[in-house]
Amino acid sequence: MKLKSLIQYLEQIAPASYQESYDNAGLIVGSPEDKIKGVLICLDSTEAILDEAIAKGCNVIVAHHPIVFKGIKKFNGKNYVERVVIKAIKNDIAIYAIHTNLDNVLENGVNEMLAGMLELEDLQILSPKQNLKKLQLFLNEDDSNRLTASTLTNGMKIHKSLRVSNYGLDEMPVVLFETLISQGIEHAFIQKTRKLLGEDIQFEISDVNNQNSKVGSGLIGYLKHPILEETFLRRMKYNLNLKVIRHTALLGQKVRKIAICGGAGGFLLPQAIKAGADFFVTADYKYHEFFDAEYKLVIADIGHYESEQYTIELLYELITKKFSNFASHCTKIDTNPVNYF
Ligand SMILES: [Zn+2]
Repeated sequence: MKLKSLIQYLEQIAPASYQESYDNAGLIVGSPEDKIKGVLICLDSTEAILDEAIAKGCNVIVAHHPIVFKGIKKFNGKNYVERVVIKAIKNDIAIYAIHTNLDNVLENGVNEMLAGMLELEDLQILSPKQNLKKLQLFLNEDDSNRLTASTLTNGMKIHKSLRVSNYGLDEMPVVLFETLISQGIEHAFIQKTRKLLGEDIQFEISDVNNQNSKVGSGLIGYLKHPILEETFLRRMKYNLNLKVIRHTALLGQKVRKIAICGGAGGFLLPQAIKAGADFFVTADYKYHEFFDAEYKLVIADIGHYESEQYTIELLYELITKKFSNFASHCTKIDTNPVNYF
C-alpha cells in the first residue's frame, strides 16, 4: 500500500488545513508514492526513534510533532533536526507529522483522548475555529480527475459532487469541487491548482460560519460528579501516571467543569475562565503566567509530553482499525526531553 492512502485516511480525521499557521504538519520527508513496509508511531521523531524504525523494519514514521518547523538552508548535521532529516533520507524513511490539525478536532483528537483519561463527559471545543473558508472550484471531468489524483488535495476537506451544467461553451459536464480550508491558505491552494490545471480555473471563495463546529482548540468537559480539588489532582496524577503537577492555589471548592488543552495551551486561559471552568489542565506554563489564574480557576500544568502521551495509542488504534496490510508499532522510547529528579 502506498503512503498516500495512509495520509488520505489520517487527513479525513484531521484535515491538514485545520493546522495552525505556525505549524508544519504533513509529509516532511518522503514521497506519497512510497510503499509502506511498516509504521512506527511516536510523539517526536528523534534520532533514537529513527534507529527504532530501522530496527523494526519500519519505513514510515507517524509523529505528532513535526521535526521541521522552519526553513532549513543547509543540511550538514549541525543539530538534531538536520541529522534526523539526513538520516531519514539516507535510510529511505518517510516522516509524517499530524500535529495541530489533530489537536483541533473534537472527535479522535489529542484532547478527546486526554479528556477520556480524565473521565470527562459532554465534551465541547473550548475555542471553536471560525476562520474557515469555503472554496468552490468549477472543473471539467479531466481536470477534476487530475486534481483528485494529485497530492495537492491531501488534507483538504473535499466534498465532491458531480453535476451536469448548461454553462461552458461546449455544454460539457462541470464538476463542482467544494472544500473547507483555513483562512490564509486559500490563495496558495488556488495558485497550486492553477499551476496543475491551468490559469483559467474558475473558483469562488466564501466565509463559513462554523461557530458551533467540531473544530478548534482545547476542550471543555464535565466530571460525572463534583469532587474536591485535591481528589481531582490525585485522579489526574494516577490516571496519567504523572510525577508532578504544577498548579495555582486551590480555591477550596468542588470541581466539575474542566477545560483542557494537550501541549502548550496557555493561550486558551481567557476562554477557560469565560467558560466558567473550575480547572484548566494544560502544559508549558511559565512562572508569571500562573498569576493570570487570578483565583478564578486552578491552572494545572501536567507537562507537555504527559498531556499528549496517549496520542501515540490514539494513532495506533486509528491506523490498525483501518489497515491490516502492514505492521504498525507504538514506539517503546520515551522521548520526553524533560526529566524529574
Ligand atoms: Zn505537543
